[in-house]
Amino acid sequence: MKVTEHFNNAQKTLFTFEILPPLKGENMRTLFDHIDPLMEFKPPFIDVTYHREEYVYKQRENGLLEKITTRKRPGTVGICAAIQNYYKVDTVPHLICGGFSKEETENALIDLHFLGIDNVLVLRGDCVKNESRFTPEPGGHAYATQLIEQVVDMNNGRYLDEEQTFKNHTDFCIGVAGYPEKHSEAPNLKADLNWLKRKIELGADYIVTQMFFDTQKYIDFVKLCREEGINVPIIPGLKPLTTKSQLSVLPSFFHLDIPCELAEAVEACRDNKQVAEVGVEWAIKQSKELMEFGVPCLHYYSMGRSGSVRKVAEALF
Ligand code: FAD
Repeated sequence: MKVTEHFNNAQKTLFTFEILPPLKGENMRTLFDHIDPLMEFKPPFIDVTYHREEYVYKQRENGLLEKITTRKRPGTVGICAAIQNYYKVDTVPHLICGGFSKEETENALIDLHFLGIDNVLVLRGDCVKNESRFTPEPGGHAYATQLIEQVVDMNNGRYLDEEQTFKNHTDFCIGVAGYPEKHSEAPNLKADLNWLKRKIELGADYIVTQMFFDTQKYIDFVKLCREEGINVPIIPGLKPLTTKSQLSVLPSFFHLDIPCELAEAVEACRDNKQVAEVGVEWAIKQSKELMEFGVPCLHYYSMGRSGSVRKVAEALF
């Protein structure tokens, strides 16, 4: 079922979460052990991220360059199929521009359609290490807007290099990313919002936000979006803090602020066990504020750790 149908059918705030594919070499059990504790909160769908493989080149003694994979999380398509079969719950595979030509994207979408997957979260993808600007794959897309156009074309029966329009076609529900504190590369929030609006005009059905720790920033973002005529559901993304180092890592990686009150509480913790308790309390507080604001769904970034997300869900769902 489509994510938007879940929103339309919901009688109360929905609980959903995002998982990362396990590292190369690990099996589905690793993943199921992570998902199992969260299933009692009845997520209508689960997001599965996509990570482009990254390489470094090392010079061998014979002078030849050796390509070494440094990031190893393949398997998004297979994982989505396995989750749908095992848990009978919808999945949202993330689909990125980076590393894909248009032909490879078309093939991936055909596979997803055959597997009965109705949703995709369409993204540009992060820069790879050592890349100062995002570099598209030759013959691939440079922005999420272009990838949305390809998905919409396929939803309308239009495939690459085909004159005719096909009667049988995909019908993906399309989600996109939004940034309450602005995307790191955007010159200002207004410019970023213009591109977000374009993503909706092109056919995106809903928005999931980058994580934020100040609920007011989300509320202000929704207000700005509505003023700009962006009227689709805007799903807040939340992450319970789990380590002290996240106080500096998350702001620099995700371009966001951590409120003084939260930062001070984390700084005062003896160890990361205490940090996780503070993180859970803060996420519960934010979730309650967002429920009061009337969000249709709360979306949690588990980032490979279900423990904290489970504690938040236990308090709320
Ligand atoms: P875009 O919408 O393409 O925007 C990128 C930048 O270009 C922005 O600054 C925007 O203002 C500007 N812009 C947009 N369109 C245009 C245009 N047509 N012309 C000129 N400028 C434009 N990354 C992964 O690699 N894998 C994942 O699974 C993943 N999941 C994510 C899930 C969520 C909910 C979020 C919020 C992010 C996720 N990311 C993921 C990170 C995301 O890929 C990065 O933030 C990336 O840098 C931008 O992706 P985007 O889709 O927002 O890009």
